[in-house]
Amino acid sequence: GLKKHFPVGKKGLFSRHRKVVKAVDGVTFDIRRGETLGIVGESGCGKSTMGRAILRLHEPSAGTIRFEGEDMMQLSRREMRKKRKEMQMIFQDPYGSLNPRMTVGAMLSEIVRNHRIVPLKETADYIYQLLQEVGLGPQHFHRFPHEFSGGQRQRIGIARALCVNPKLVVCDEAVSALDVSVQSQILNLLVRLRKEHDLTYLFISHDLSVVKHISDRVGVMYLGRMVELADKQAIYANPKHPYTQALLSAIPSTDIDKKRERIILKGDVPSPLNIPSGCRFHPRCPVATDECRHQEPEFRQVGEQHYVACHLV
Ligand code: SF4
Ligand code: MG
Repeated sequence: GLKKHFPVGKKGLFSRHRKVVKAVDGVTFDIRRGETLGIVGESGCGKSTMGRAILRLHEPSAGTIRFEGEDMMQLSRREMRKKRKEMQMIFQDPYGSLNPRMTVGAMLSEIVRNHRIVPLKETADYIYQLLQEVGLGPQHFHRFPHEFSGGQRQRIGIARALCVNPKLVVCDEAVSALDVSVQSQILNLLVRLRKEHDLTYLFISHDLSVVKHISDRVGVMYLGRMVELADKQAIYANPKHPYTQALLSAIPSTDIDKKRERIILKGDVPSPLNIPSGCRFHPRCPVATDECRHQEPEFRQVGEQHYVACHLV
């Protein structure tokens, strides 16, 4: 039931209430230990906000987040800061979040010391080892962020997330800014690190091919809601929600036999300030009925491990 609403603008003469952007508007799902759960959707669907709300980098407006059974919403800010060690984030643009005046070694050492991850004396060794694991050599320890390429910076972003020994890592468009050839290197690195460090990923991306490559299960978001959630195979081979079907029909298929007809959706994604009545997808849905305009579909189980929010499924 997670929600993140942002009030915008001012109360005015004619409007007694501030407008509200319903970025995340009631999302329920689980992430299983050791899996990669991919989250896809067009920009503005709320996937990044959701990732941040789960880590309480954005304070949720409503709903519950449980981590290993513990209710995160009950933790104080201070307790949450400690907990965040176990829940890290990798961003699209690591450069924006790296301190330009600090060498990589100094930056990582500071984090490792603050969180008392290893005995002080072992800090440098620990970081050399970590740099090596993400594909950087000891010679990179004394370099500044601007001395690295985009792919190398993302490796630093990954090292920074991993240096505190997290359990859950939220990757938000982690490879979206990289060249395609570098993307696959970083994806393979993430896959390897997941195994070696017993990580669990929430992998957010607008890129359906990237999500297909890395995920075990996939959730599809539209305007702040999850509309479909299933095993990767089920989503990609047999999508049930009309929105998922349209999204997937837009990926160029390499398999000629399986070529799907491209489904073109009418109009643009509506503003999250003005969410349509009933099923929020109805103005663009090619198979909408009258019921869809009035009645919001529930997110229901429709098959083993398969959840869909659509009246027709
Ligand atoms: Fe389309 Fe209706 Fe299903 Fe919504 S509930 S996706 S409008 S068919
Ligand atoms: Mg985003």
